[in-house]
Amino acid sequence: MLYHSLENHKKLVSFEHAVLKGLAPDGSLYFPEKIPILKRKFIQNLIKYDIYTLAMEIIAPYLGKDIPEESIYSIIYNTLNFSFPLQRIHENIYVLELFHGPTLSFKDVGAKFMAECLSYFSKKIEKQVTVLVATSGDTGGAVAKGFHKKSGIEVIILYPYKGVSSLQEKQITSLGDNIYALEIKGDFDDCQNMVKKAFLDKEILKKYILTSANSINIARWLPQMFYYFLAYRQIEEENKELIFSVPSGNFGNICAGMMSEKMGLPVKYFIASTNKNDTIPRFLKTEKYHPISVQRTISNAMDISNPSNFSRIWYLYKKNMFQLRKKLSSYRFTDEETLAIIEMVWKEHKYILEPHGAIGYLGLRQYLKKIKDPFLGTMAVFLETAHPIKFIDHLPLFLREEISVPEQGKILLSSNSKKIKTIQIPNDYNILKNWLIERQRHQ
Ligand SMILES: *Cc1c(COP(=O)(O)O)cnc(C)c1O
Repeated sequence: MLYHSLENHKKLVSFEHAVLKGLAPDGSLYFPEKIPILKRKFIQNLIKYDIYTLAMEIIAPYLGKDIPEESIYSIIYNTLNFSFPLQRIHENIYVLELFHGPTLSFKDVGAKFMAECLSYFSKKIEKQVTVLVATSGDTGGAVAKGFHKKSGIEVIILYPYKGVSSLQEKQITSLGDNIYALEIKGDFDDCQNMVKKAFLDKEILKKYILTSANSINIARWLPQMFYYFLAYRQIEEENKELIFSVPSGNFGNICAGMMSEKMGLPVKYFIASTNKNDTIPRFLKTEKYHPISVQRTISNAMDISNPSNFSRIWYLYKKNMFQLRKKLSSYRFTDEETLAIIEMVWKEHKYILEPHGAIGYLGLRQYLKKIKDPFLGTMAVFLETAHPIKFIDHLPLFLREEISVPEQGKILLSSNSKKIKTIQIPNDYNILKNWLIERQRHQ
């Protein structure tokens, strides 16, 4: 499999090249030259395969010959070492729990997979690779954990000043070693812009082999397809098409879902659910792509107004609004609506949602209200992208006591005494650049 940039289809690069570069030289995202279609028989019999074999079928074609098969298998084996349970909360509605990994968010899947790939490549080229990554909260923790102490790799994480929850900040800043945390006096879009600039900066590229671990990186983005298949595999009813509602920020997760559908997964419809940062809901309505400044919300991992991966979705649907609207709707919700649905779901189903999953559920309900016989031949799934403990500060008081803290959370909550290591940087690219260049001089 080869990859081209979304802007330039002529120049093709390998998986290894695209992973090590992160972003194409023209500043746009890499995309596979073709999308492999899985056999119907395979899809109808997912239950007969163990999860590693299943993941292998899905991802191996994308890696081409860059990594030998045994190594791909062990990358998958190390990535999928936690569960992805599907819980039924209503006759026809399931929640897909993606928060059982080491840092309690779905980002563990992409981060771990990418760390394993990069570690393979760094050994092969015998050079140190620097991962420069912007986070709206959960990427930072997942990447820090996934890459911690991996030899040949260092990680520099940019996160927005006061833009992440206290637990998230601990996950980013408490590991040390090869993990460096920079608190930027700006919002996520500022962090993401600084990272994108650094990738294109020749002076920096002279000193670093730099790559990103955001979902712009194909090694982070593509493995997210796994759990869409794993959801389908767990649906009890046979021959149903799925409706997926995905709480969306940078749109990498939903874009992986939409790729799965193109590969043959029976998905009838997608809903991209957002908070007040509603560039995409507005775009689908007005056909005008017009990001405005980021608004802070209680679903802070989605406080993004210019979602990088939307360009991939747009490309996937041939930049055709008519085709896209046949598969995708997008709705936005306020913090008040988010809190109200969290309370309602607790009262009605005794299930605790956190703000991102709650927005996923709100989007699903909005869609279901609009169509006649929504469950004719379909089942609906919304994604719960993080564990409620990560956003406990935002949950109603009466719910906080109801949350049972998983082991991964206990360790972090108890590391109160652990020193938080962070470097504050103003929202100014040149200061970041100087910092990057200076530190190389002393190494
Ligand atoms: C990152 C994140 C999202 C948004 O995912 P995208 O792939 O950026 O759209 C949603 N929920 C949580 C908890 C997240 O950490």
